[in-house]
Amino acid sequence: MTDHHVPPPGLLGQARVRTTARAIALVLLVVGVVLLVRGISDVVSELGDPMMDAGPGSILTVAGGGFCVVLGLVAAQIGWMRARVRYVAGETMPVLKDSAGYLSDGQGLGAIGRTAQPTSSAATGPYCRRCGTRNDAEAQFCDSCRHSLA
Ligand SMILES: [Zn+2]
Repeated sequence: MTDHHVPPPGLLGQARVRTTARAIALVLLVVGVVLLVRGISDVVSELGDPMMDAGPGSILTVAGGGFCVVLGLVAAQIGWMRARVRYVAGETMPVLKDSAGYLSDGQGLGAIGRTAQPTSSAATGPYCRRCGTRNDAEAQFCDSCRHSLA
């Protein structure tokens, strides 16, 4: 490892995560490459000798090796490419916030969130003579104090 800078105390946890990610990446990449090489050599030998029945095992070995390599690359990105991790985090958080806002402001609940309209735009009728509240045009009694509007 060629990390010469000492991370500030607040980043110690992040540094530990990166170290763990690097170890996982190395293991996954090594295991994945070994599985890939072994599986591919099995597939090649099967192709060269159709009588040798290795079954679907070689294909699974190749698939498993490729899976390990992909996971290893992901872990390597987490371990070595901090900028990319920050980018992903920055891209993900606004989406989460938008989703939370979308769910919380009622827009995602159809008519439920839109039934309550401001009183100022709904009330276009007479003002109450007793309390001054403006009521709907067809209202016969005050919304606020129940005084007759007739
Ligand atoms: Zn009133």
